[in-house]
Amino acid sequence: MTSPLPQSPAEHVERALCVVAHPDDIDFGSAGTVATWTAAGTEVTYCIVTDGDAGGFDETPREQMGPLRQAEQRAAAKEVGVSDVRFLGYPDGRLELSLDLRRDITRVIREVRPQRVLTSSPERWWERIGASHPDHMTVGESTLRAVYPDARNPFAFPELLADEGLEAWTVSEVWVTASPRADHAVDVTEVVDRKWSALKSHVSQVGHWPDGQMEQFVGGWMTQTAARFGLPEDRLAEAFHVVHTA
Ligand SMILES: [Zn+2]
Repeated sequence: MTSPLPQSPAEHVERALCVVAHPDDIDFGSAGTVATWTAAGTEVTYCIVTDGDAGGFDETPREQMGPLRQAEQRAAAKEVGVSDVRFLGYPDGRLELSLDLRRDITRVIREVRPQRVLTSSPERWWERIGASHPDHMTVGESTLRAVYPDARNPFAFPELLADEGLEAWTVSEVWVTASPRADHAVDVTEVVDRKWSALKSHVSQVGHWPDGQMEQFVGGWMTQTAARFGLPEDRLAEAFHVVHTA
């Protein structure tokens, strides 16, 4: 007999960890939600698997892109109350499922000991193919494999315990972004200016967008999301598939 899974996410958690492939992934889909969490006193850590060195739109030399995008992500994090930003340094655009990546995410989970993890969808969203970048799907799948079973199993990657003293840790819930199965919406209308500031920190990615385009484009999705979840017309929302993993 196992007890039934909870029907909704925890009201409040002490610690949350966001694991994504690229600098700016959190900011497009989830920075408003992160701002509500930090405002409520949750400590949030970002783990960014690549430095986003295959991104950008101008002549910035490739070897400068990684450090530049790290700095932009740290600035974006600060806008929504996050100061702990970690980079795993994998190559942008070339992520594959590997035991190394699983171990590296497991390590961060055991270090941070979050009750809640946010990550990208391992599942392709056929209606919104742009959300299903292969790196996003790889990070989503690797993170879910790290949440269950690796992080909670002391015999998985035994060197983490033996050499680094990292005890097993069970994550209670995973919030999956850009999921075709989204079942939970967060009303971020009151904190949306912080999301715009976070997004605008990614100058190498959005610096060439005309004034107002971000609010119109990203705000447009958020208005649609709010409508899909039955929120009033003037609201903006971000949506997630919340998976109970404890
Ligand atoms: Zn991305």
